[in-house]
Amino acid sequence: MQLLLWFDRLRDAIRAARASRQPRPQSPRHVAYVELSSICNAACVFCSYPILAQDSDRLKQMSGSVFARTLELLLQLGYRQCSFTPTTGEVFANPQWPDFFAQALQNEKIESVYFYSNGILLTEKNIARILELPNLHKLAAVHLSVGGTDKATYHRMFGVDKFAAVQRNINALCKALADRQLTIKVCCEARIPKTIKLATTDIERTFNMAGYRHFRAEVLRFFDPLGGLVTDKELRYLPPVRDKSKLCYRLGDIRFDARGGIWMCGCVVSERPGDTSLRIGSTDDQAEDIMLRQTEIISRWRQGHLPTVCAGCRVYKPAAGNDHDLLPDVHR
Ligand code: SF4
Ligand code: SF4
Repeated sequence: MQLLLWFDRLRDAIRAARASRQPRPQSPRHVAYVELSSICNAACVFCSYPILAQDSDRLKQMSGSVFARTLELLLQLGYRQCSFTPTTGEVFANPQWPDFFAQALQNEKIESVYFYSNGILLTEKNIARILELPNLHKLAAVHLSVGGTDKATYHRMFGVDKFAAVQRNINALCKALADRQLTIKVCCEARIPKTIKLATTDIERTFNMAGYRHFRAEVLRFFDPLGGLVTDKELRYLPPVRDKSKLCYRLGDIRFDARGGIWMCGCVVSERPGDTSLRIGSTDDQAEDIMLRQTEIISRWRQGHLPTVCAGCRVYKPAAGNDHDLLPDVHR
């Protein structure tokens, strides 16, 4: 009887812990996200893109002039790490991507560059263009987001019939990097529904047949429901976060969207239809105005007034360390 009671208590404690979680603090990374394209070629069930794409005015390729101003501003604001990861969109959809990558890599103040792609347009031609980029040692990682290791699961998660192309493309990239003895990290993340069991070795076998040594595989099983925009019953969701009294570490990041808008955070959950609570200006503004709006959002958070998009966000993590280190040091 005592043992049964103990099991009951343990089960209740586990359920309570699962129902709301308190994530571990994380150090701010100071990443500047530069969204070269807000146009995507997939329709993932866990993403707000299919809804955002209904507003055709939102779909844009970043122009050369917006990119030049973006690079100038992000450096003035103290950012040194550049991620060409669109919040929603696909980097290779912008035909000017090699030129924009080259400009960032050639800039002596930029320390490293990385990006996420769904791999659909990671064609032989685009792999060759990556290999021709200047200062390739500053390209730290290529992150590839895939929907499982088979055609049906991929279609279920990404909404398009592109598994064969993605498998061929990622394998070709790994082989090209291995042949040239390069050390750029290839991080392959499989997003899967709760009905599927998958090990990182399955991802390795499917997408890294060349055995590239710098390949990393990860399985992502938990999603943010984006305030109710994502409701797929085959997805497993992150539990809500109870205590958000500390600032989120992602407020230290900044995002430049394809239309010239500037936002705090760069995470996929940070932009929702009709919610501009993290927008802090545009590329027409001066760096001082952007810094002022960053600090305004931070001080309002400290007073308990969170941006609406952050209030419901489940990927929130408290910032580790001193609040003064949340934003980059602009004097570097
Ligand atoms: S998750 Fe990425 S690849 Fe999928 S629809 Fe959204 S933007 Fe496109
Ligand atoms: S709470 Fe969510 S949306 Fe807000 S800054 Fe953190 S990750 Fe971004």
